Amino acid sequence: MNNVISKLDDSYKILDNQDLSKYTTYKVGGIAKYIIYPASIDKLVELVKLLRENNIKFKVMGNGSNLIFSSKEYDGVIIKLNNLNNVTIEDNIVTVEAGYPAIKLALETANMGLSGLEFASGIPGAIGGLTYMNAGAYLSEMSKIVDEVTVLDKDNNVITLKNKDMNFSYRSSICKEKEYIVLKVKLILEHGNKDSILALIEDRKRRRIESQPLEYPSAGSVFRNPEGLFSGKLIEDLGLKGYSIGGATVSKKHANFIINENNASGEDIRNLILYIKQRVKEKYGIDLIIEQEFVNWE
Ligand SMILES: Cc1cc2nc3c(=O)[nH]c(=O)nc-3n(C[C@H](O)[C@H](O)[C@H](O)COP(=O)(O)OP(=O)(O)OC[C@H]3O[C@@H](n4cnc5c(N)ncnc54)[C@H](O)[C@@H]3O)c2cc1C
Repeated sequence: MNNVISKLDDSYKILDNQDLSKYTTYKVGGIAKYIIYPASIDKLVELVKLLRENNIKFKVMGNGSNLIFSSKEYDGVIIKLNNLNNVTIEDNIVTVEAGYPAIKLALETANMGLSGLEFASGIPGAIGGLTYMNAGAYLSEMSKIVDEVTVLDKDNNVITLKNKDMNFSYRSSICKEKEYIVLKVKLILEHGNKDSILALIEDRKRRRIESQPLEYPSAGSVFRNPEGLFSGKLIEDLGLKGYSIGGATVSKKHANFIINENNASGEDIRNLILYIKQRVKEKYGIDLIIEQEFVNWE
């Protein structure tokens, strides 16, 4: 791998032996052999082609806000998209590269009197990550505002998909099914009243602060809500609020959040998730579905 990486030109920012706990919102993970920041979409495409040709394992990361890494070394390349951050806004059409932070974009468009991204104003991911998994909140989600998505497919072709071809479903899209890499997204927003859009964002922020343990590292909701039920309520009714394994704890504020309270490892979080799943299955016969993604466990 080292000889392949050393061929990359100076436009790439390359870091080696990085502690992944600095790059994930749960603050867990082992050492990544390399973290590479491409400077542009073209450079990202070039990098992915090179890694694929040389059979080097890689993982694209937005803001690491939905990931649970094990403590093992990641013997490959983490591709960070922070430099894919161009955005153009013309009338109500937003064209934005995958690395752009969703909260920033939600606030910027709100300030321009554009409505549609309010739901994302509390989601700490990048636009590519939100699109890949059709992130959502408050009965809205990416699928409602995406017009088209430019992706890199597994054969290294850059293709543009219209909304109807994205196979959006609950927290999923064709990108997840076919391992497409999101490069750029075109969103269609609606003109609205700036003050009421900002007021809605403010109200939701207040509700999140009241109901979610935002003062601790986490990755948002752990489990999907089963049809007609709330995972948080099921977990709370089992008396598991405050229950810990190692440094990972079921939040006392919101039972569907696990927090890294005391130097937790990915293993602590995983064990706690599996324990909750087992208890819920025993008591209610329900198989909770995990929303967060385990990386580097095989
Ligand atoms: C406090 C808090 C609150 C949250 N609230 C919500 C919420 O209300 N609703 C919600 O849906 N989620 C929520 N989340 C979870 C998380 O923020 C979202 O799932 C978000 O979409 C993840 O984006 P990311 O950029 O951090 O992706 P990452 O965690 O970095 O990656 C997640 C997956 O997406 C893939 N990926 C990332 N970028 C790309 C790309 N450009 N192309 C292809 N694949 C890519 C990664 O490989 C990985 O498989 C919350 C998290 C936290 C910490």
